[in-house]
Amino acid sequence: MTTLFVAKESRDGETRVAATPETVGRYCKRGFQVLVQAGAGEAAFFADQEYTEAGAEIVADFATGCAAANLLLKVARPTLEEVEKMKKGTLLVSFLQAAQDPDPARALLAQGVDCFAMELVPRTTLAQKMDALSSQANIAGYKAVLLAACELGRYFPLLMTAAGTVKPARVVIFGVGVAGLQAIATAKRLGAIVEATDIRPEVKEQVESLGGKFIEVAPDEGAEEASVYAKEASEDYKRRQAEAVSASVAQADVVITTAQVPGKRAPLLVPDSMIAQMKSGAVLVDLAVEQGGNVEGSEVGKTVQRHGAFIIGTPNLPATVPVHASELYARNIQHVVDHIVPSKENDALELKLDLEDEIIAGSIAMLGGEVRHPLTAQALNPEPAQS
Ligand code: NAD
Repeated sequence: MTTLFVAKESRDGETRVAATPETVGRYCKRGFQVLVQAGAGEAAFFADQEYTEAGAEIVADFATGCAAANLLLKVARPTLEEVEKMKKGTLLVSFLQAAQDPDPARALLAQGVDCFAMELVPRTTLAQKMDALSSQANIAGYKAVLLAACELGRYFPLLMTAAGTVKPARVVIFGVGVAGLQAIATAKRLGAIVEATDIRPEVKEQVESLGGKFIEVAPDEGAEEASVYAKEASEDYKRRQAEAVSASVAQADVVITTAQVPGKRAPLLVPDSMIAQMKSGAVLVDLAVEQGGNVEGSEVGKTVQRHGAFIIGTPNLPATVPVHASELYARNIQHVVDHIVPSKENDALELKLDLEDEIIAGSIAMLGGEVRHPLTAQALNPEPAQS
């Protein structure tokens, strides 16, 4: 029998919750026992009473839930204090992001806690419903544009008024993954002129279909056909990219950067020299600020001023939209649970991981005290820096 525990997030600023009354109702209907930590949904505006009405039992604290459950649902990477309270053999389903901070992953390993890491879910059609990176990046891209619009001392749309004509804002977006595409769409809806660039030239069509202009940078000679993920750019590529974007950035009112390379530090794309060319009062939003930053000088949790431009480094933007971020994340997790504990006739809803399954095998960071995923292994034992 599987007992699920929905934890209250303990990290500062984390407002999301891994299950909503809607998904708890579905778990209970399937026959799971569901425990929810008191106040787990509070910051996302889901009351304890809604969870009990959906069939859950409220437990007072994290330790009590961990002691009773064998499946632990969370949003953010656990803290070391949380890991201490988890019991051996529990399966944690959560973001782990060991590359950003390997210590919780090490602690889970030492404690014998198994982990299905949400950021490792393969980007395949089959796994799309479980893809929390996408559901959350979409929100981050949207919110980044709104933050920029609020900080900018100008309008976004073209306006023709009796008092004169207002020119539309110019927005440049670096990185056209899920967040970048949503940022383009949101900035277009607000009436801006949008340009975007990405190391993967195949995204040009997607940018154009949203009404943006793609800033082309010739790929490195002999570059391999890209996978869905970007590889680290060569120094030569970075130089050509800087040349191609510099005129657009100099004219821009807003720059939004979303570029990431899985398992690596985010590439630095907007150096100080480029910021120095920007208009006074321009706004940059660095969505990669927690992965090392795409914009020189961006700081986690701060808006800093540099050469008269404002650089916004708000971390964890999905947590600023807690209702929809939780609803979408909770559904991603529910599809994971349905996948790892599939329904069978007369079954006892037993938690037994099928490691032959592509999605499960691809998303398990650690199992039975052993690291199973290459990206987790790399984060725990980074290669020495090349001199
Ligand atoms: P990401 O967050 O890893 O990176 C954001 C973007 O930054 C990417 O488009 C990447 O190419 C770009 N980038 C990296 N280095 C760069 C550089 N030096 N200069 C400019 N741009 C740079 O990306 P993501 O949002 O997770 O999406 C990655 C890919 O996965 C996309 O192609 C997306 O469409 C695809 N995807 C596929 C599925 C699926 O098939 N189910 C689901 C989601 C995403």
